[in-house]
Amino acid sequence: MRILLIEDETALREELTEQLRQHGHVVDSSGDGREGWYLGLEYPVDVAVVDLGLPSMDGISILNHWRQAERRFPVLILTARGRWQDKVAGLEAGADDYLVKPFQFEELLARLRALVRRASGWTHAILRCDPVALDTHSQTVTVADQAVELTAYEYRVLEHLMLHAGEVVSKTELSEHLYQEELDRDSNVLEVLIGRLRRKLDPERTLQPIETLRGRGYRFQLARSP
Ligand code: CA
Repeated sequence: MRILLIEDETALREELTEQLRQHGHVVDSSGDGREGWYLGLEYPVDVAVVDLGLPSMDGISILNHWRQAERRFPVLILTARGRWQDKVAGLEAGADDYLVKPFQFEELLARLRALVRRASGWTHAILRCDPVALDTHSQTVTVADQAVELTAYEYRVLEHLMLHAGEVVSKTELSEHLYQEELDRDSNVLEVLIGRLRRKLDPERTLQPIETLRGRGYRFQLARSP
């Protein structure tokens, strides 16, 4: 997923950026309120982490401006210990969750994953489109209860497609949400990855879980299981 981090404590911002990238996420970050607000308007953000006290524009104003501009991605705010009024103000301005500093990285990561799942209409950590099941916590995939070995990139592509099961996902969208660097327009990296995913998930070609829509992108076409 693509995460926007706005935090003016340099050490914390750099540490979180590094850890989130190590977990395979694309991270855009800023230590400045106004710049961070702009990144949220312009970038394809899956979830944002916003500190409330920031130079040039505070976190509550950023939230208000994004929501007025109909940017609906989930936002988690970071608040200082003992400032309960900040939590209330943040939630009222449209934040979806909050963490009080200091916090454990694992808790932040779990909350971000949950926010992104819920924003796509999934309530549980296991995304299930029978017979395919993807566990977003352990990052494992099974087909008819048989484990399927995927590389980190294959997993990320499948997770994004399954989060948006039933929707068309363009190649641009996939590359923007999965790669830190912009992919060459003519690159066939994604085609190769999708081809490998298809062979691993569906060696007999009986399921056809990933549909190609010529010129538009891909769609995970197995229905979400109730
Ligand atoms: Ca701050």
